[in-house]
Amino acid sequence: MSIVIYNTIKRKKEIFQPREEGKVAMYVCGPTVYNFIHLGNARTFLNFDVIRRYFIYSGYDVLFVQNITDIDDKIINRAKEEGKDPFEIASEYTKAFHEDMRALGILPPDIAPKATEHVNDMIDVVSTLIRKGFAYVSDGDVYFNVAKFPEYGKLSGRDLEEQQVTVQSDDELRKKKAPLDFALWKAAKPGEPSWSSPWGKGRPGWHIECSTMSMKYLGEEFDIHGGGLDLVFPHHENEIAQAEAYSGRRFVRYWMHSGMLNIDQEKMSKSLGNIRLLREVLEEHDTDTIRLLMLQTHYRSPLSFSDDSLHEAAAGLERLKTCLFNLRDAITRIGDDTAEELSSYEADVIKRVDGLKKQFREAMDDDFNTALAVGSIFGLVKETNAFVSRILKSRSPKAKTVMGSCLNAIEELTGALGLNVAALSPISERGNIVEVGMRGDSSGRQALSVESLIEILLEVRQAARERGQYEIADIVRDKLSAIGVRVEDLPGGYRWRMEKITGG
Ligand code: AMP
Ligand code: ZN
Repeated sequence: MSIVIYNTIKRKKEIFQPREEGKVAMYVCGPTVYNFIHLGNARTFLNFDVIRRYFIYSGYDVLFVQNITDIDDKIINRAKEEGKDPFEIASEYTKAFHEDMRALGILPPDIAPKATEHVNDMIDVVSTLIRKGFAYVSDGDVYFNVAKFPEYGKLSGRDLEEQQVTVQSDDELRKKKAPLDFALWKAAKPGEPSWSSPWGKGRPGWHIECSTMSMKYLGEEFDIHGGGLDLVFPHHENEIAQAEAYSGRRFVRYWMHSGMLNIDQEKMSKSLGNIRLLREVLEEHDTDTIRLLMLQTHYRSPLSFSDDSLHEAAAGLERLKTCLFNLRDAITRIGDDTAEELSSYEADVIKRVDGLKKQFREAMDDDFNTALAVGSIFGLVKETNAFVSRILKSRSPKAKTVMGSCLNAIEELTGALGLNVAALSPISERGNIVEVGMRGDSSGRQALSVESLIEILLEVRQAARERGQYEIADIVRDKLSAIGVRVEDLPGGYRWRMEKITGG
């Protein structure tokens, strides 16, 4: 089986053929650290986390590099606003970025180079570009001479003649030979952080950071370069020009771009002031809810975010959790398989489970179609629920085996997408329940609470089970289940949780 990828530069899907058999060298543009990341940024990082995880799941050895842009106009401006040092701002928000990524269950990069620690490498690349005639010095700045790179525009498909250049200051236009030329090096302004260079004190431009650091850690030509769709032009177009002019060869084999997260039909962005910070949303929602929400849209399609969509994802997640909970519970309660053959019904369930796993892989192999892949997982949920409710009513000689294969499939596929759902987090476990539900008053008497009553019922139930009175134990369990309290039996104990009430 091979993986097919939509390659932005070719404008079509291609079979993925890595530079080196079985290995993926991958670079994803990291954040400029001057603020907490919002849900839009999170979407792009999460999409590439899923892509990376799927390569690993498929047996590839992945080398994943993601930079930190820790010197930039935006950081300097923010520092001025707050009366702080730009390095302090950068270090504060780098730390916050790592925290946010961890909270979202994103695998840390194998290498996370910081721009400020690679300035000498950037100076080397810029010097080579000047020497080769692709760049020129102007008044302490260095610019890339776009006219010298005829393939400029090949990624974004923009016609040079029609280029709309963003508003530029007269000073900038004066220093450049042509408006499309872009800065590789910027002369220091008073009070700004700067490094010594052959062109005087200054700092690198944003685009040169990514070309330099990606080539340094992944080689002059590597497999995948990713980022949000808004980076295609000018950032990635400029990265190609710099890197290919420098090395004289193709820079990246597959360019991948993640679609924008929109809110009320507009891109979520700091400048539009419509952002929702990831960390704020995570205060109210499960990290898996956010992941599921993102996964339900293909990575290249726009995602229209709303609170309703979050609540829908939360309800979907709850369905998945309940299924797993009941399944695990049924597995501990069911007797061992009998010596009989698989029943034809059981054989069909196993076949359908295998079919859904295959469907999942086909969806992911086809340019990481997570929306369809999530559909396969919910197909497994449906299959599992039907089986678990059936074994309560009719005999099933190999129920344990069948349920085991349902459980393995759900755990494997959710794990491949980075969903953490398979690791159920109970609200309460026997042992720590005293802290959760029962707080004694000063006389040592226990305060009355719903939790304390549930716990008393469960202790009575546990006593019944220990005496082999399973009918009574089942009545307690079923009655509690009817009011949304899910009990799971564990070897030598139990745990329980209250189901979240979702939707109307
Ligand atoms: P920045 O820190 O602004 O360079 O953004 C970091 C990453 O987030 C880049 O890959 C951007 O393309 C991406 N990004 C920014 N806004 C959005 C959005 N609304 N939806 C998806 N990705 C975004
Ligand atoms: Zn970049």
